[in-house]
Amino acid sequence: MTYNPASDRYQTMTYRRAGRSGLKLPAISLGLWHNFGDTRPLETQREIVRRAFDLGVTHFDLANNYGPPPGSAESNFGRLLATDLRAYRDEIVISSKAGYHMWEGPYGEWGSRKQLVSSLDQSLKRLGVEYVDIFYHHRPDPETPLEESMSALDAIVRSGKALYVGISNYTAEQTTRAAEILRSLGTPLLIHQPSYSMLNRWIERDGLLDALETAGAGCIAFSPLQQGLLTDRYLRGVPSDSRVATSHFLNESDLSEETMGKVRALNEIASGRGQSLAQLALAWALRDPRMTSLIIGASSVTQLETNIAALGNLSFTGDELAEIEKYAVD
Ligand code: NDP
Repeated sequence: MTYNPASDRYQTMTYRRAGRSGLKLPAISLGLWHNFGDTRPLETQREIVRRAFDLGVTHFDLANNYGPPPGSAESNFGRLLATDLRAYRDEIVISSKAGYHMWEGPYGEWGSRKQLVSSLDQSLKRLGVEYVDIFYHHRPDPETPLEESMSALDAIVRSGKALYVGISNYTAEQTTRAAEILRSLGTPLLIHQPSYSMLNRWIERDGLLDALETAGAGCIAFSPLQQGLLTDRYLRGVPSDSRVATSHFLNESDLSEETMGKVRALNEIASGRGQSLAQLALAWALRDPRMTSLIIGASSVTQLETNIAALGNLSFTGDELAEIEKYAVD
């Protein structure tokens, strides 16, 4: 059936500027790492993507290797773009990445110009688009000179295959160097994509947000729900359709008594605020205005809706933050 997006889709979503760039992103973006491969029905994928767009989620995050199998999330999103969203391409920010293992041989991963340019060309074909809005180097490469990876990103923007560039999983120190190189080339670093959640606070210890502020770049955190741990998903055991039960990225060993004790305590704090644990976790991760957006995953429309509703209460009292601090420990 023809898709007619909700006419009020821009009225409730909050948009935040990525650093000192011209680009604003929704405070909650949708990631397609899980739930959008060939193992999930395309109809469910369509429902989630349509509902996201109806709720003002203009940003969809992908990478070459998302699936399974690798590449299938881009192909499936490409199908949805063609059938549902083609008329709205200019309202949508699509990102992709290269750097993790994608194909055999010396050019199928890491950060050479060969890997980055070839991988993006493959992604554009799978997505069926002429350009992505943001193209990331997915992880730092200890062997390739940073100058080569950054000049490849610069060349990609100049070729018109990406509008902006980002980096992911770089430390604050690596970020500062990458931003300097990119600035000298004339292509500013738009954004950094690190992991961050109540149970994963490395960016605070590393000073990443300070480094990004100095560089004028934004920050978009991935796995803000710690892959589902910071929700009610595992409070009463392991559901058979959950990530723990169906993938090797999250395991029963991640549900230790120590972790679940923190999760239960945080769940109580959430209840006291009239929020679900997922909503508390998202509001908390957005408490620093330098956090441009959070990339959530969702295996159902209900999860997506719950998560976006977190934006209805982003404020915290000092007492609430102090209480959270006791349990938001990694
Ligand atoms: P989250 O931490 O948001 O975890 C998402 C999972 O949590 C869902 O698949 C679902 O699990 C569960 N969940 C979500 N909302 C709810 C809810 N309201 N109630 C109960 N359970 C819920 O993020 P992801 O780990 O999925 O990562 C998000 C995105 O970040 C990725 O898609 C990708 O775009 C990006 N990313 C980037 C990386 C990088 O290196 N740059 C690495 C990893 C992710 P279930 O399936 O069990 O229902």
